[in-house]
Amino acid sequence: MSNDCLFCKIVAGTIPCNKVYEDELVLAFRDIHPQAPEHVLVIPKQHIATLDDVQVQARAVMGHLMERTAHVARLIGVAEKGYRTLINTRGDGGQEVYHIHVHILGGKAIGPMVC
Ligand code: C5P
Repeated sequence: MSNDCLFCKIVAGTIPCNKVYEDELVLAFRDIHPQAPEHVLVIPKQHIATLDDVQVQARAVMGHLMERTAHVARLIGVAEKGYRTLINTRGDGGQEVYHIHVHILGGKAIGPMVC
């Protein structure tokens, strides 16, 4: 846990979230500023700041994060029609919260990537 990390505070329960899934390793909650009809963030409970900070020791957690992301997509009802997953990394990648998270965006046709 990192004391000044917003998502670590959500994991600890000191900041509320709209939870959709939780297990011993990951937490999924609705984004407070949704960019699609369904917009959920899936995070590891362990503090990992960015994709660049993923170490070999975190392989099991990251594998679980990806498998559970697909599970959460099924839970929120976007799996059948499809959805976009996104990990933003640091400044140019548009990362605002430095605790790695997978965005799930769905509930409509998201369209092509525009950069
Ligand atoms: O990938 P990036 O770091 O830009 O995304 C952070 C996301 O966290 C934003 O979509 C923002 O709306 C969301 N957020 C949230 N709850 C908070 C703070 C930020 O869902 N308390």
